[in-house]
Amino acid sequence: MLEIKNLHVKLEEEDKQILKGVNLTVGEGEVHAIMGPNGSGKSTTSYVLAGRDGYEVTEGEALLNGQNLLEMEPEERAAAGLFLAFQYPVEIPGVGNMTFLRTAVNAQRKARGEDELSATEFLKVVREKAKSLKIDADMLKRPVNVGFSGGEKKRNEILQMAMLEPKLCILDETDSGLDVDAMKLVSEGVNALRDGKRSFVVITHYQRLLDHIKPDVVHIMSAGRIIKSGGPELALEVEHNGYADLLAEQEQA
Ligand code: ADP
Ligand code: MG
Ligand code: MG
Repeated sequence: MLEIKNLHVKLEEEDKQILKGVNLTVGEGEVHAIMGPNGSGKSTTSYVLAGRDGYEVTEGEALLNGQNLLEMEPEERAAAGLFLAFQYPVEIPGVGNMTFLRTAVNAQRKARGEDELSATEFLKVVREKAKSLKIDADMLKRPVNVGFSGGEKKRNEILQMAMLEPKLCILDETDSGLDVDAMKLVSEGVNALRDGKRSFVVITHYQRLLDHIKPDVVHIMSAGRIIKSGGPELALEVEHNGYADLLAEQEQA
């Protein structure tokens, strides 16, 4: 599904290397978690995959089902099945949430050579999915994320993800700032999308999210590289001991 090989990334504006050789392979239907200290390059990895401006790939590659992501425009990446749920969802004043979702879904369908959904079909699907995320009709009518609470913004990201039916979902700290109930809703939303084919990369600081969204593989990122990979027990180790031991191990190696 996703293959990142030796990815090196620097900031376009400054001579600052952020990713220093990231390797990551995510198979079809797998859930991978990425943990790691602040500033280790987790968000940068997801931004570069999604095609955000401001970063320069100096070495390495990233393939989605064999297609070279790094040569594609952001909307082509989305059409190819990539979705990124942002750590800080943006507010879009003047654009109704429903209009935004419908435009995105239909653009996606068009790019895939599928017919647009009729207004009735779209309404039915969006209402059903919104309901399961406890997003009320009022939130669907308001401008995208404007005046939404932190938790509402994150649930809205999951609604977008559910509507777009991506092949690879990247969630960047979708759990941060959520209370226990909101985290449960978000996790259920994600789990409902697990179908044995769709793959997930879940970036998180907290092991507790991984109690709900059970990962196949856990990776630890530090200073622009993945320094260790393991099973779910690796997340528990981090929860108990922090990153210090892992970083020290790495320095000795
Ligand atoms: P994480 O998500 O793991 O906390 P980030 O990917 O956000 O880490 O950041 C990695 C490093 O790159 C940090 O030191 C951060 O300050 C720096 N960085 C990322 N993007 C920018 C930017 N646009 N301008 C300046 N520094 C940046
Ligand atoms: Mg951070
Ligand atoms: Mg981040």
